[in-house]
Amino acid sequence: MTRMCKWILAALFCAALMGGMALAASTAVPLAPLPTPSAASGAQTPASTALPTERPLATEAPAETPQAEPAPARPQASPSATEAPTQASEASPTQTPYPTPTPGIALTPTASAAAEASATPGASAAPEDIFASLPADMPTVPPLATREPGRLTGVRIGIDPGHQAQGNSEQEAVAPGSSETKAKVSTGTYGRFTGVPEHEVNLAVSLKLRDALEALGCEVYMTRETADVDISNQERAIMMNELGVDLVLRIHCNGSTNESAQGIGLYIRATGTNADECLRAAEALLPAMVEATGAESDGIFRRDTYTGLNWSEVPSILVEMGFMTNEEEDHKLNDPAYQDQLVEGMVEGVCAYMGR
Ligand SMILES: [Zn+2]
Repeated sequence: MTRMCKWILAALFCAALMGGMALAASTAVPLAPLPTPSAASGAQTPASTALPTERPLATEAPAETPQAEPAPARPQASPSATEAPTQASEASPTQTPYPTPTPGIALTPTASAAAEASATPGASAAPEDIFASLPADMPTVPPLATREPGRLTGVRIGIDPGHQAQGNSEQEAVAPGSSETKAKVSTGTYGRFTGVPEHEVNLAVSLKLRDALEALGCEVYMTRETADVDISNQERAIMMNELGVDLVLRIHCNGSTNESAQGIGLYIRATGTNADECLRAAEALLPAMVEATGAESDGIFRRDTYTGLNWSEVPSILVEMGFMTNEEEDHKLNDPAYQDQLVEGMVEGVCAYMGR
């Protein structure tokens, strides 16, 4: 072996050794610990620590089921123990796969609402209650790939997962200064085909929404993160007032005696200082949700009958994500993939409203 060869071999050996060391060093350097989701969540959701969970649940509630708060014009089918299995066994063979989001989908905001109002005895949805005009030049929702981690930095959003495990029929004023009262919090509706209570779906979607918003740098405040709470609608609104969030999304599922009723509907207050701002937010949210889910638009409804909206001093929208009395939507609302689409739509709607 020549001297030159020895030098080459030595050089190769050194190069291999240094490469190995570099590799070892790169894998051995400990990464700075990332904040755990729970820690980050805890830090960003001080509201959750202030939940009055120590309050005893209302076990004295009468047997009478309180009317679900969000749908006075949609009398819910009386819960029947035999109804769900019967209808479930009659699962329609024509059930179609979940629709995929269709860019530029045409909105028919009041079609189903009008049909339901006419088909539902006693429904009192006056024409002026239904805000029909969505902007014709609706902006196209940007695709997911265009998102940036800091897109919602500085934005503060409140999420109120509707209802809770046990309703509370104690009364509270439906609006500041009003002598009219309603139950503090109702039990909500339930899936006629899945049997899942509404409060569970509301919380599942709300937690996903919280994570999705926080991933974009948003500060998120939850009224509840578990089912075992007792927080009235008035208390939920005041909680968000004190936080002074930019927008509150009250997450609910709808119910109707009309099984064909379906679609996403948004409810906002009709009067009050921030009624116009609520409308502006709803007009940003609805098209984004319809586009992300492929669901029908049930429309935007302006009402002064909801305690949680009336007590809200910040823009607040009650989101009815779909009808649990409709077979297809009941299944979809319980499908994690569809829940992700709902979340996608709400995130894009928040971004559109906040100009992000
Ligand atoms: Zn509800």
